Amino acid sequence: VTTSAGRQTGTVLAATVGSVPQLLLIEDDSAIRSALVRALSDRGHGVETAPTGMEGLHSALEGGPDLILLDLGLPDVEGATLLKMLRGVSQVPVVVITAQDDEQQIIRALDAGADDYVVKPFSADHLDARVRAVLRRATAAEPVGPVVVGGLTVDPRTRDAVLDGRPLDLSRKEFDLLHQLARKAGQVVTKRDLLAEVWHLPYGGAEKTVDVHLSWLRRKLGESAQEPRYLHSVRGVGIKLVAPP
Ligand code: CA
Repeated sequence: VTTSAGRQTGTVLAATVGSVPQLLLIEDDSAIRSALVRALSDRGHGVETAPTGMEGLHSALEGGPDLILLDLGLPDVEGATLLKMLRGVSQVPVVVITAQDDEQQIIRALDAGADDYVVKPFSADHLDARVRAVLRRATAAEPVGPVVVGGLTVDPRTRDAVLDGRPLDLSRKEFDLLHQLARKAGQVVTKRDLLAEVWHLPYGGAEKTVDVHLSWLRRKLGESAQEPRYLHSVRGVGIKLVAPP
């Protein structure tokens, strides 16, 4: 077993536990940060952290969290500004944390795209309840059923993908990419749209990323760009997923 095979197994396992919500906590106060990480992990969430707004924005775009907890009192960037930057590229649910019961600040954050807010001090149970409620609403808004195209079934609830009865071992991004293409089966999807929807990257990002993941996905589906079955490149436009004849 090579090192790279070991890493691949790790990726597959991470994608399999897709039912554990992944939270990103953006908070500059290290004591509050570690207390919240402990409290939220104890309540069944996966938690990543970032100590500044810009690092948080970067992690949000890289990691694709299920929900962001955003402290509005950050040293480097104003909360509403950060929210607007985030909303330019991502619809990830955001719960803002505010230090004082400042109605104007809360209204600015909600207007900038926050989904809910909590006011310090709050209990861990209160925060957890808000997080679960926002996650429930976000999940309810998503198409939940499996997508079936020919012999391919992609189920976003269990994050299982099956081809002709055979489960596919997909990384998190490979699954998201396949799901996005399967949802739009029969339509040409541009690489720029895929970057925005799967990687949450702004338009004009690295389309090479899409190409690399597409080639991995093709290999796992047992096809190639030269001999496509499901994934058809439309030169100069994008990718189309269709059932083979
Ligand atoms: Ca703070």
